[in-house]
Amino acid sequence: MKLTSFFIGCCFGSLLNVICYRSLRGEDYLFGRSRCDYCGKKLSFMETVPLLGWLILGGRCQGCGKAINIRYPLTELFTGIVTVILWTRGDGEVFLSWLFIMTMTLISLFDVETMEFSTELLFFLSLVGIMISFTNDVFLASRILGVVSLSVPLSLMKKLRELIGDGDIWIFAITGWTFGCEFLFRSVLVSCITGLLYSLITGKRKIPFCPFLTIGIMASLL
Ligand SMILES: [Zn+2]
Repeated sequence: MKLTSFFIGCCFGSLLNVICYRSLRGEDYLFGRSRCDYCGKKLSFMETVPLLGWLILGGRCQGCGKAINIRYPLTELFTGIVTVILWTRGDGEVFLSWLFIMTMTLISLFDVETMEFSTELLFFLSLVGIMISFTNDVFLASRILGVVSLSVPLSLMKKLRELIGDGDIWIFAITGWTFGCEFLFRSVLVSCITGLLYSLITGKRKIPFCPFLTIGIMASLL
């Protein structure tokens, strides 16, 4: 059961990668075949098997031998783990929480590629968040505090606005409403720590924040 959930989760990760990749390049979602970023070779069946294909082929394109972007298998690994954890939990709001994380993952992929947020996806995430808020027990005061506690001060502080995008602020507000103030603070703390570690390890100063926020929210759901 766990292995099946993991594999299904990896397939969803692969699907999110395809949606992001093809929509940014104006390609057909359904009928196009994925290609290597470098040599343009169409991927073989083995190469398209989520995670396993990447492992078996040693993370390299069979055509040109160049390394496949690590983001693809990492996304599949993440959605695989998320699916195992949430699907085997079995309470009512599980599917919606899972959908919330999957949407966050797709928003993160766009954030990594373009440093921009899709408004449609943010609306969809808000919709999922509102649906979750009908099913979970969070005090109204905590939800309201969750919406305003970070988004209002961050919107007002000009210096911080260079570091944090509008999309991140929107997600803070959605997460605050959906899961409450305490959950939001825990998630943001985890995302700041993981983001800082990533920044220190890679030496990159400007990093997309949404992937770390997704990790933070998932960690808080545990
Ligand atoms: Zn290639």
